[in-house]
Amino acid sequence: MDFSFTPDQERYAAQIRKFAEERVAPHYQEGDRTGEPRPGIWSELAEQGLLGLRVPAALGGRGADCVTTGLALEELARADFNACYAVLQAALIADVLASNGSEEQQARWLPGIASGEALVALCLTEPGHGSDAASIELAAEPAGDGRWLLNGVKTSIMLGAYATHGLVFARTGGPGARGVTAFYAALDDAHLTRTRGRDLGGRSAGRAELRFDGLPVGPEDIVGGEGLGFIQVMRGFDYSRALISLMCLAAAGQSIDEAHEHARSRQAFGGPLGRFQGVAFPLAEHATYLRAARLLAYEALWLKDTGSDPAVPANMAKAWAPRAAVEACHQALLTFGQLGWSEELPIAQRLRDVIGLEIGDGTQQVTRLVVARHLLGREYAP
Ligand SMILES: Cc1cc2nc3c(=O)[nH]c(=O)nc-3n(C[C@H](O)[C@H](O)[C@H](O)COP(=O)(O)OP(=O)(O)OC[C@H]3O[C@@H](n4cnc5c(N)ncnc54)[C@H](O)[C@@H]3O)c2cc1C
Repeated sequence: MDFSFTPDQERYAAQIRKFAEERVAPHYQEGDRTGEPRPGIWSELAEQGLLGLRVPAALGGRGADCVTTGLALEELARADFNACYAVLQAALIADVLASNGSEEQQARWLPGIASGEALVALCLTEPGHGSDAASIELAAEPAGDGRWLLNGVKTSIMLGAYATHGLVFARTGGPGARGVTAFYAALDDAHLTRTRGRDLGGRSAGRAELRFDGLPVGPEDIVGGEGLGFIQVMRGFDYSRALISLMCLAAAGQSIDEAHEHARSRQAFGGPLGRFQGVAFPLAEHATYLRAARLLAYEALWLKDTGSDPAVPANMAKAWAPRAAVEACHQALLTFGQLGWSEELPIAQRLRDVIGLEIGDGTQQVTRLVVARHLLGREYAP
């Protein structure tokens, strides 16, 4: 058993920490106020290698392993949770394309993701189908020449307001999972209407509804094969649940660290706040949960790196970590008293931002369902 990161991983994490502290953290609250990402942020993420983490080095990426990807996301999430979405989506979609795309497709698609020229979004959820994603209805209608036109609505798409490309799940066949095909499509505004969401948190991440009105796609845009969108492509998704867990845990960890600092410096009743067990113990308790959930997430990433199935720990992490993070953010807020409630500090914003990923990419119920099916066996589980 070895819990250490490699020197390369430590070096890259330190590089991202410095970048995140200097270039990203100062704008975290501004993005919440304006509802827009800082201009130029995505090019800077690309320059740091953050958009090409899961793109092979031969195609312009960093060719990083999953553990390194997790480390980089943690460093960024401590500075700006919402800036992580571009990195997360790029890591997830590049991984799917690298695992399921032909060599020609990879050469066509992956360099643009790594360079930041293509900002990518995952287009799965629809107004009528979220957890029950195998029932999606967005139609790929035959255009008569071996091509299709995408018609229908995707909703709750992170970065949807800005994305240039989407991994779009569409129905090409009959009902259920076997009728779904994944397309990597340029999101051409001539065939698309984007409507921004008004949200509790994640305000600079451009969550949007996308109405597809005859967006043309062809066989060259199919990822993994017709009718294999769910069966093959979705299989690659489990590890992103570990990445999301790390994002949430890191943002909460930052708030708990800040609360510890406050408990050292704030004086009450003749001494520092931390001298009271009622202040120190809840922080110790939440730090314990964050640390334990982090191990689960890294176990999942390590399993994927070693070629094993990360599904069980990744889904356990996603079922637990965002909730543990929300509770830790809440405790940190209370430790700051009235200051935590105010918008002077980023503490309250982190709480609002993290709640979103209790829902996004699979709720607690859905991820527990996946775990239960693995542990009990499909025929004995809900
Ligand atoms: C911050 C954020 C980011 C997101 N990003 C994206 C994105 O980039 N791309 C994308 O495609 N989607 C995205 N989503 C959408 C997200 O994946 C869905 O919201 C999620 O899958 C839940 O679907 P739903 O909202 O339709 O809720 P529903 O599926 O209607 O569920 C409502 C409630 O019922 C529960 N429930 C549903 N089915 C069961 C069951 N079988 N057993 C027990 N309980 C059940 C759920 O857990 C939930 O509590 C995002 C959402 C958020 C909030």
